[in-house]
Amino acid sequence: MPEGDTVWNTARVLHRALAGARLTGSDFRVPRLATTDLTGWTVRESASRGKHLLLRLAAPDDASWTLHSHLRMDGAWRAYAPGERWSGRPAHLIRVVLRSPGAVAVGYHLHELALLPTAAEADLVGHLGPDLLGPDWDPAEAVQRLSVHPEQTIGEALLDQRNLAGVGNLYKCEVLFLRGVSPWTPVGAVPDLPGMVALAQRLLAANRGRWTQSTTGSLHRGQTSYVYGRRAQPCRRCGTAIGKEELGERVTYWCPLCQPEQPGTPPPD
Ligand SMILES: [Zn+2]
Repeated sequence: MPEGDTVWNTARVLHRALAGARLTGSDFRVPRLATTDLTGWTVRESASRGKHLLLRLAAPDDASWTLHSHLRMDGAWRAYAPGERWSGRPAHLIRVVLRSPGAVAVGYHLHELALLPTAAEADLVGHLGPDLLGPDWDPAEAVQRLSVHPEQTIGEALLDQRNLAGVGNLYKCEVLFLRGVSPWTPVGAVPDLPGMVALAQRLLAANRGRWTQSTTGSLHRGQTSYVYGRRAQPCRRCGTAIGKEELGERVTYWCPLCQPEQPGTPPPD
């Protein structure tokens, strides 16, 4: 599941493969960019912002451009050596190919693929809250943004990228379990919001640099999460069957015993 850490890892893969390189070819397989040719453009850097990928480029006239992409649930970038077989995904999922003398980057099933002036990046990512893995991570700002809607469920608020950028459904479920908080608790009734935000940041940061996401400390298959993806399996702490239900637009997993319902804060008058 691509969450902030996966996107951060992906940005690093692209940076190592392409940063500083002059592109020798490009092949866009999305209608809007079908005629775009980045041959001769230079890759300045690859960065992530929450779950957004920003590949920053210099055009031949030295103007700064950004190739934006979003992985959502199923997108991926892979970097290959020239001549290496592209083993990542089926070819029909390819949305873009970028070639340089030292590497070939292939984007599969990317979403929101767009080429825009770097100065206009804010149009796409300016609404995001503090990036959990960004150089400008600001936990107090994240807590402040979460607190703006105290009546909202914490399960939905953690997924809202305008509050903090990078938490997806896996980390949302796991953080709430580790803090013993029901996903349906109103934000205003969460006992220690700064502690929850700090834990979310630590969990994502711990998974930087590897593709297996674990919140338990174990990298063994089937042991990497406490509640996420474990419907009806016994809670690792108390043995109660893990629940799975819809919350907002997503499903949530939780332990009914370890994460009891808490008294809600009445909405402000
Ligand atoms: Zn439990």
